Amino acid sequence: MNSCYKPLGGNAVYAKKPPIEFEPIIESTDIYSCIGDSCNGWMRKEFVSDTLTCPLCGSGMTEEVRDLPQMKKSYNFY
Ligand SMILES: [Zn+2]
Repeated sequence: MNSCYKPLGGNAVYAKKPPIEFEPIIESTDIYSCIGDSCNGWMRKEFVSDTLTCPLCGSGMTEEVRDLPQMKKSYNFY
């Protein structure tokens, strides 16, 4: 049952949604957002590339903070 996973060209632009529904913890997260007027591209700081370019349009990116659901880095349920 792994057939529905489609990688986004190797760039984790949006956080993957966990399969289990639970109360998300919102935290202020450092991100880089695209400076392009017509582009909504953004990445979490930890995923951004060394070149700091938008994965969608190749423009520069600027640092900002957004309130995002906390991302689980490890899956230690059970
Ligand atoms: Zn962009």
